[in-house]
Amino acid sequence: MLSVRDLYVSFRTFGGEVQALRGVSFDLYKGETLAIVGESGCGKSVTANTIMGLIPEPAGRIKNGSVLFKGKDLTKLDKSKMRKVQGVDISMIFQDPMTALNPTLKIGEQLTEGLRTHQKVSKSEARKRAMELLEVVGIPNPEERMKQYPHQFSGGMRQRIVIAIALICEPELLIADEPTTALDVTIQAQILELFEEIQERTGVSIILITHDLGVVAKIADRIAVMYAGKVIEIGTKREVFYSPQHPYTKGLLASVPRLDLKEEELQPIEGTPPDLFAPPIGCPFTARCPFAMEVCDRIYPGTTDLSETHAVDCWLQDERAKRLFDK
Ligand code: SF4
Ligand code: MG
Repeated sequence: MLSVRDLYVSFRTFGGEVQALRGVSFDLYKGETLAIVGESGCGKSVTANTIMGLIPEPAGRIKNGSVLFKGKDLTKLDKSKMRKVQGVDISMIFQDPMTALNPTLKIGEQLTEGLRTHQKVSKSEARKRAMELLEVVGIPNPEERMKQYPHQFSGGMRQRIVIAIALICEPELLIADEPTTALDVTIQAQILELFEEIQERTGVSIILITHDLGVVAKIADRIAVMYAGKVIEIGTKREVFYSPQHPYTKGLLASVPRLDLKEEELQPIEGTPPDLFAPPIGCPFTARCPFAMEVCDRIYPGTTDLSETHAVDCWLQDERAKRLFDK
């Protein structure tokens, strides 16, 4: 349903141009959950924001590539057409439920707003749908709750409301950027269960952006691992978890038992990702990679298909490396 092709996105800053995405490609199928994982700054949120049309211009710029959604290239839509896609066909959920909710509006109004503006649904019909949805996301007494303000709900409840708002127009794609990071562990598990339940019920496709591999293990069907603005490995959950082929993915998985780590501390392998003001021409993982070879630094490896679903960008898997070394 969604096909991201060779996406390059840059941001102009006073320090120069940051090349945030450097040729990102992947597909998303109907009814599946694709997790995009990687350290902070790898480009996972930029990928989500690009799909959503939320790259702030003029500082941010899509330099190349396309985002095909049901045959339409979203990068080519003008603002008003894009606004129709946002919230109707594609909805996004952010990390902090408090910033997503308007503190001065009753949640009933916030829930029905999308329906009323995008789908011209009558007030009473919108209220009915909103109350049904509150039940679905696990908020009891919807009639009473509709009249309350965001501060009258707990953090977990607020995230449930945000999810209800995202779902009210029955989107086909839900993009969730670290949706459980701000929540405590028990609530996290409940919210993840809610995503699964909703997917079963509606068949919505989900892109889940996270640095938390525990979350990925729980609900992803497929996993895309990003590093330095590129997807360096992609596969089914089984392939990536049990048979990771990129040294970075291996390092990332090796850090899983340390569940106490926060995102800033998640450093699977010694060293830091390269500077994206001047990204390396070769494999960006070279400086940290225990298997780095001479070719790695000089030429970026191609994408090698390991199965119909599993692909990796690493010279260790690339047949051409052997030929290059023979010479
Ligand atoms: Fe390591 Fe080379 Fe593979 Fe990059 S291409 S991950 S440096 S072996
Ligand atoms: Mg992020």
